[in-house]
Amino acid sequence: MQIPFVDLKAQYLSIKEEIDQAIAQILQNTSFVGGSTVNQFEKEFAQYIGIQHCISCANGTDAIEILLQAMGIGAGDEVIVPAISWIATSEAVSTVGGTPVFVDIEPEFYTLDPTKIEEKITPNTKAIIPVHLYGQPANMPAIMEIAQKHNLKVLEDCAQAHGAAIAGKTVGTWGDCGSFSFYPGKNLGAYGDAGGMVTNDATLAEKARRIANHGQLSKHDHQIEGRNSRMDTLQAAILSVKLRYLDPWTQARINHAQQYNQLLTHPEVTLPKVRPNSRHVYHLYVVRNSERDNLKNSLKAQGIATGIHYPKALPFLACYQHYSFTEVDFPVAARCQEEILSLPMYAELPPEHIHYITSALNTQNVNS
Ligand SMILES: *Cc1c(COP(=O)(O)O)cnc(C)c1O
Repeated sequence: MQIPFVDLKAQYLSIKEEIDQAIAQILQNTSFVGGSTVNQFEKEFAQYIGIQHCISCANGTDAIEILLQAMGIGAGDEVIVPAISWIATSEAVSTVGGTPVFVDIEPEFYTLDPTKIEEKITPNTKAIIPVHLYGQPANMPAIMEIAQKHNLKVLEDCAQAHGAAIAGKTVGTWGDCGSFSFYPGKNLGAYGDAGGMVTNDATLAEKARRIANHGQLSKHDHQIEGRNSRMDTLQAAILSVKLRYLDPWTQARINHAQQYNQLLTHPEVTLPKVRPNSRHVYHLYVVRNSERDNLKNSLKAQGIATGIHYPKALPFLACYQHYSFTEVDFPVAARCQEEILSLPMYAELPPEHIHYITSALNTQNVNS
């Protein structure tokens, strides 16, 4: 049995007719960048999140950069980011001229640890970027309290967490703004790169929209200099079709996670924990084991593909070696990077795959 980590084809086939029709329509219209199809998706996605403004852009990394710029964050500014995320989170801070300041993660939920933020705040700190990692909301109530106390902006990196929520309040609506990625493998994925920015702040929304399109809101109205970060119309058309299925797909992910939780009984494999009163949308299903590499290899030998998100915590990446961080600086992240293992997770994951994966895992002698 060969078990892939994800199967994007299965999802395409499940909605092929609608997708093919949406694409054909765009080819007929030959409007390939921006326009009413993109505006329509922005409206639908804002409504889905429960927020006033959604501004589309080229990808999730641009979304972070543009929102930072729109909030006036740049040279000399420090921005708090979690020690474990995809590099885009810290990279975007550097790209706008700021300095990423890493903070360790919570050991049970893998998101930014609010109890370790204040010790990293300096007079130069301007913002916090919590990341809703793996689909689990960061501890937004605690983070917002710290941000308010120190007058910091909050940009939520929601790239892995479309529709995740705490106490029914969707991620992206807690802070000043939120960034989304619609990269193909994300919970809501385009057929190429695409991104989105959300906010309830009309001024910030307008600024972000200008930056993403050469400073203009209408043609030749360049009030400021911006850049080119726009969503392709084809991607918007595809995303509008797929958005209609996001809730059932998310429910399928949650059901798969529950099935994993029930069937995984190995005493040395730590299961993911959900923050109380939260909706975890399981972009990834991440378990932990002290002999992770052995486990990964053994599963591979049985035809099971797994992933590591991520093999190195951000502070330990080669590009940040000038900071000379050691494991003592980020003990939780340092330990997690050795132990985390992502099991196959996608809406169409067949139940028999979960049975095969969990029985392979349960019969592991991890210390051999
Ligand atoms: C995917 C991702 C991004 C970047 O999104 P792109 O669309 O690939 O640029 C940013 N942050 C996190 C946490 C991500 O997983």
